[in-house]
Amino acid sequence: MSDCLFCRIVAREIPATVVHETDTTLAFRDISPQAPTHVVLVPKTHAPDAVALAAAAPGVLDDLFLAAGEVAKAEGVADSGYRLLFNTGQDAGQTVFHAHLHVLGGRRLGPLA
Ligand code: 5GP
Repeated sequence: MSDCLFCRIVAREIPATVVHETDTTLAFRDISPQAPTHVVLVPKTHAPDAVALAAAAPGVLDDLFLAAGEVAKAEGVADSGYRLLFNTGQDAGQTVFHAHLHVLGGRRLGPLA
């Protein structure tokens, strides 16, 4: 059994509210939402961060962005705007070391840092 939290969500060993799925990606609601829409999109294969994912499986990054667009549409934030964010490393606040793309929206978002 993997000790990676998001691998375990992908494997359905840990429950999550899944909102979108493709062959290569899974999107689920963040457990601690920072905005009315806060969905996390992960590759189904493990990579510790987005840059490692780009090196290992660059096409999957495209899949994540395309899936993010679908999630934004389904969540009703595509027209008003939303934020796509990869935290990368400790100083950026990355806490789960499986690459993931945050989709945040549903309110006017503040500055980044
Ligand atoms: P990071 O801080 O690494 O960029 O983002 C990790 C995100 O995963 C955080 O926003 C956190 O709330 C979310 N998260 C942590 N544990 C769980 C969990 O068990 N389930 C879900 N759905 N989200 C989680």
